[in-house]
Amino acid sequence: MTPADEIPRTVACPNCGRSVPWVRESRWRPFCSERCRLIDLGEWFDEDHRISEPAENS
Ligand SMILES: [Zn+2]
Repeated sequence: MTPADEIPRTVACPNCGRSVPWVRESRWRPFCSERCRLIDLGEWFDEDHRISEPAENS
């Protein structure tokens, strides 16, 4: 059986570093908010933006 109550995976917002729960409700993930997402997109308007995979599993 799969544990349904595991600790939710979180990622760090690429813009401000805030912890963002990786759940469906976090619609701006991996950003913490729409603002951070827009800011990041603005800075990386080039199509070269690479999404860094969350590597915080232990
Ligand atoms: Zn943020």
